[in-house]
Amino acid sequence: MSTKGVAILGSTGSIGTTALRVVERQRSRFHVAALTAFSNGALLAEQADRFAPDFVGLVRPSAPGAGRSGWACGERCLVDAATLDGVDIVLNSVVGAAGLDATIAALEHGRRVALANKESLVMGGELVRAAARRGGGELVPVDSEHSAILQCIAGRPRSEVRRLVLTASGGPFRQWTQAQLERATLADALQHPTWQMGRKITVDSATLANKALEVIEAHFLFDVPYDRIEVVVHPQSVVHSFVEFIDGSVLAQLGVPSMELPVLYALTFPDRVSDTGVPPFDPVELSPLTFEAVRYDAFPALALGVQAGRTGGAAPAVFNAANEAAVARFLDGEIRFGDIARAIESALARLGDAPGGSREAILSADALARRHVQELFRC
Ligand code: NAD
Ligand code: MG
Repeated sequence: MSTKGVAILGSTGSIGTTALRVVERQRSRFHVAALTAFSNGALLAEQADRFAPDFVGLVRPSAPGAGRSGWACGERCLVDAATLDGVDIVLNSVVGAAGLDATIAALEHGRRVALANKESLVMGGELVRAAARRGGGELVPVDSEHSAILQCIAGRPRSEVRRLVLTASGGPFRQWTQAQLERATLADALQHPTWQMGRKITVDSATLANKALEVIEAHFLFDVPYDRIEVVVHPQSVVHSFVEFIDGSVLAQLGVPSMELPVLYALTFPDRVSDTGVPPFDPVELSPLTFEAVRYDAFPALALGVQAGRTGGAAPAVFNAANEAAVARFLDGEIRFGDIARAIESALARLGDAPGGSREAILSADALARRHVQELFRC
C-alpha cells in the first residue's frame, strides 16, 4: 500500500511538532513530503534529517529561491510546498494571515487541507470555499472544537442541524475581575490552564478572541448561520463541542485535551485508525465536567469578532489583522492586555465596512487594520 504524502507548513510549531509525532506513529499510512518553518531553523534541520522530505523551506520573504538547496525560501514558499507533486494532504499549521495563500492554492490543486491555521479561513472564508469548489480540494479542520463538530455531524445533512455549541476553556482569566484583567501581565496570559500551544493562540485564548475566530471558522466550515452558533465555557476542555439536531438530540465528542487526536483525524477522515497512543478515557478520573456562561463584558474581543463575522465583507479580516497586530505588541511588552480588545474595537469602527470579495480587497483591509493598530499605539 502506498503512503500518502503530507506537507507540514509550520513544522517547528506546537501543531507542527504534534503532527510530525502523529505521522511518525502512522508511517504505514503517511510520509512527510514537505516541511516549512519560519523560526527555529535548527529544529527544521533535525526534522529534515529525520523525515527526508522532498521539499524543505525556511521562509525568508526576501529570499529568491525555493526548496531543498539551502532551504531559504521566498514569498511563495508555502504555496510551492502545498502544491508540490506527491503532496496529498497539506497540514497548514502556520500561525496567522501568512497561511492564506497556501490554503487557497492547496484547495485549488485538489488537495486535502488539514486546517489548523484558522486565520486563513476567517480572513478569506468565501475565497477559501470558492477555491475548494474550483479545484475540488477538501477542507478538514484540525481545531479540536471543529473536529468534534465534524465527528458529531458525521455526514448528516445541514438541514438536520439546529445549533452548534462550541466549548471554551475560559483561559487563564476565566474568574478574574475587570480590575484584575486590566493589570494582567504577559506571564499571566501565557499560563493556559489546559492546553500547551504557541504564544499567539495562547494569548487569543486569554482574550477569547480565539473563540471568535472559531465561531467564524465554524460558520464557514459547516455553513451554519451565526445565530445558530453559541459558545459555552467548559473549564476542563474534555467536551470538545456539541451539535444539537432538529429533534432536540445533542451529540458531543469527548477526549482528554490533546491535539494528537484531532490532527490524526484530519489526516484519516472519515476513517478511524487504531494505535494512536491516546490514553484510555476514564469519565470518573475526568469528572466533574462543568459548564458556565461566557462573561461577554469581561472579554469584549469575543462579541467584537462574532459581530465582524455577521457583518461579513472584509470585517473578519480586519478583526483578525487588528488582533494579530495587537497581540504581537502585547507579546513584545509594548501594550497592556486590555489594549488588545480596544485595538480591535477601534480598527473595526474605522474599517469594519471594508468590502471583501477578492484576495486584493482582503489583503488591503488586512494591511490597513495593521497600520491602524500601529498608529493607535504610537507614542
Ligand atoms: P506556533 O507559533 O507554535 O507555530 C507556528 C509555526 O508557523 C512555526 O513553525 C513558525 O515557524 C511558522 N510561522 C510563523 N510565522 C510564519 C510566517 N510568517 N510564514 C510562514 N511560517 C510561519 O503556533 P501553533 O500553536 O502551532 O498554532 C498554529 C496554528 O494552529 C494557529 O493558527 C493556531 O490558531 C492553530 N491552532 C493551534 C492549536 C494548538 O494547540 N497549538 C490548536 C488549535 C488551532
Ligand atoms: Mg480550538
